[in-house]
Amino acid sequence: MACIAFIGLGNMGLPMAVNLIKAGHRIEGVDVNPTSVEKLKTAGGASAETHQIAAACADTVITMLPAGQQVREVYLGAGGIIANAKPGTLLIDCSTIDVDTARAVAAEAEKKGLLMLDAPVSGGVGGATAATLTFMVGGSAQAFTRAQSILEKMGKTIVHAGGAGNGQAAKICNNMILGVSMIAVSEAFVLAEKLGLDHQKLFDISSKSSGQCWSMTTYCPVPGPVPASPANRDYAAGFTAAMMLKDLKLAQSAAKAAGAKTQLGADAERIYSAYVESGEAGRDFSGIIRFVRG
Ligand code: NAD
Repeated sequence: MACIAFIGLGNMGLPMAVNLIKAGHRIEGVDVNPTSVEKLKTAGGASAETHQIAAACADTVITMLPAGQQVREVYLGAGGIIANAKPGTLLIDCSTIDVDTARAVAAEAEKKGLLMLDAPVSGGVGGATAATLTFMVGGSAQAFTRAQSILEKMGKTIVHAGGAGNGQAAKICNNMILGVSMIAVSEAFVLAEKLGLDHQKLFDISSKSSGQCWSMTTYCPVPGPVPASPANRDYAAGFTAAMMLKDLKLAQSAAKAAGAKTQLGADAERIYSAYVESGEAGRDFSGIIRFVRG
């Protein structure tokens, strides 16, 4: 049993922390929202009053925060984790953030003799609850080996993607594919409507043909063919359009910095930006089909 500090108990962090409690670990939770900490206590966790206390008691610190700004504050700020963790503590940041911040925080951690991994996830709140997340992990082999038994309690697929920041690189590349493919599948269904081709018929053909992809077969943006997809519940999220836009922006800023040409990724960012500005930020990202339809 490990003593783990878990910082950021939101939609993803709370169910992840609860799975660690179920696996027998002691969890000390921190969140700026007291209601989230109360929910952790109800599930058998403990509360920690400050990041200092959490970082001082724990062998492992996991963070699941909204964006790079909060990750910098929590790790690098005065009274933050890096200033207070015991040497040898394992730090695992599961938030989706920019590659530069992930690498900068990892470099500071290393200077203090701490082991740091960036380990963003795919699989959403459903995957966090069912402990079936995919973890894309960047950092040293030593840190990865130590983290594996903990990550296995929260996820099903755990891939070491290389050195610091490579987990974030994998995450934004993957989500750029997802954003582009969801728009492509939506455009295909809208064209089919105009051509008098039934949704189910297009699905039956494309899901078994070269148009097959996750956006078609698992998360189909029209109601009917995939009963579990958000299209069947008026596009209630799931994975919000705002989160997709965040990830597409991260991909675009990484592409600019690295000098990579990502034309379709840039188009996807513009289209999701307009969708979010139309008032649909909280809608599932597959609702983009309604925007494509016009
Ligand atoms: P969320 O907003 O529900 O949770 C974030 C939590 O962090 C909140 O409870 C907030 O109060 C807390 N917090 C913010 N600043 C803090 C601070 N300084 N100290 C302590 N706590 C602080 O977000 P989420 O949906 O849980 O997402 C978390 C991360 O996971 C994001 O980076 C997101 O992009 C990524 N992600 C989310 C999903 C999803 O489907 N929700 C899927 C994959 C990845």
